[in-house]
Amino acid sequence: MPLDSDFLGDRQGLLRAIDLLGREAYDGTTLHLPARLPEDGIGSQAALEALAPGILGGAARLGAPLALAHMDPPTPWLTWAMALWNASLNQNLLHPATAPVARDIEAQVIAWLAPFFGMSGGHMTAGSTLANLTALWAARECAGIEEIVAADCAHLSVAKAAHILGLRYRALPSDHSGALVAKSLPDDLTRAALVLTAGTTATGAIDSLELAGRAGWTHVDAAWAGPLRLSAHADRLSGIERADSVAVSAHKWLFQPKESALVLFRDTARAHAGISFGGAYLAAANVGVLGSHGATAVPLLATLLAWGRSGVAARIEQCMRVAERLAAFVDSDARLVLRGAPRTGIVVWRPRDTSTFGWLAERLPRGAASTTMIAGEPWFRMVAANPNADVELLIDALRAAVARA
Ligand SMILES: *Cc1c(COP(=O)(O)O)cnc(C)c1O
Repeated sequence: MPLDSDFLGDRQGLLRAIDLLGREAYDGTTLHLPARLPEDGIGSQAALEALAPGILGGAARLGAPLALAHMDPPTPWLTWAMALWNASLNQNLLHPATAPVARDIEAQVIAWLAPFFGMSGGHMTAGSTLANLTALWAARECAGIEEIVAADCAHLSVAKAAHILGLRYRALPSDHSGALVAKSLPDDLTRAALVLTAGTTATGAIDSLELAGRAGWTHVDAAWAGPLRLSAHADRLSGIERADSVAVSAHKWLFQPKESALVLFRDTARAHAGISFGGAYLAAANVGVLGSHGATAVPLLATLLAWGRSGVAARIEQCMRVAERLAAFVDSDARLVLRGAPRTGIVVWRPRDTSTFGWLAERLPRGAASTTMIAGEPWFRMVAANPNADVELLIDALRAAVARA
């Protein structure tokens, strides 16, 4: 039997794939696929050409000058290269034998980042939904937690974790900014995990992290704003170091390809012991929720090595400037209402004349804003996750749309 060359890597094919990446000509092309699994394949080269227009052309451009609608950043090219290496090596971190280097790399990335949050260690997960679940699972195992308490602005993944873990869920009120009303906290939190959010999804609010330590377990959901700890704005998250666990999405403000996040613990040995399973075919205990999982840390390691802390900070600080400038514009325009000063790069606003909201929603440039309901009212939400956003162009586009409303 000759070797199956599809497993060997085709230099021409891979270079062609890179060439295709730059093709803006495909914009808006839709993918046409057979309804049934084809009996015979068309071959790798033909598949590459067939898929390029639809996959590349149909994708949202997260790094475009007007892209500011969601928490999804563009990714640095170095991470594309690492994703290619990862896919070709296909290491499985479940087994030391199938990921000798990759496991060390994950440990190194965690060791670099955990201290910014006052944590001793942790591991990577496929997003903060899983990081929150993992942390609250550890809370249940290590601290006998029976209830999860969080503000009503907490991410839905917190209620989801309570549901999966069979824990009671108590939602507490939030203030106008979207932060937890501290005086609504129950007196006795010894059997409760208190979840504080650093950067709420809707408005970017930061709960008072000074509350960390008040409960049997404190988890800080820093999925969005956690990376501020590496920036000049680190003190906005003061108090986070007193948490028992922290979740951070690397595929948000650390500019990583999905799915990439960290769950960090103050006492990692204790937490990991609570959420580990061993035995049978496993040479090392399986820690956390995931079984087989890939070398997500590799693109993150490459990014941190290429940029250093200061390079990460520069990108985040640029995003924060975009949000500040945008907020200042909204605040200065009498036809618009700014919901509040942006704390973590999220600008929430609406037209003063709310009857024009739907009209405006259809006319704002695609990808510039998302919509969110707050206290029963629709608002526009713009999230500064794109360091290449052109804020003056965005403001011109907003001004033009509002002028016609
Ligand atoms: C995005 C987000 C999550 C969920 O993270 P994923 O990485 O999307 O799973 C949880 N909490 C907050 C505050 C978020 O912004």
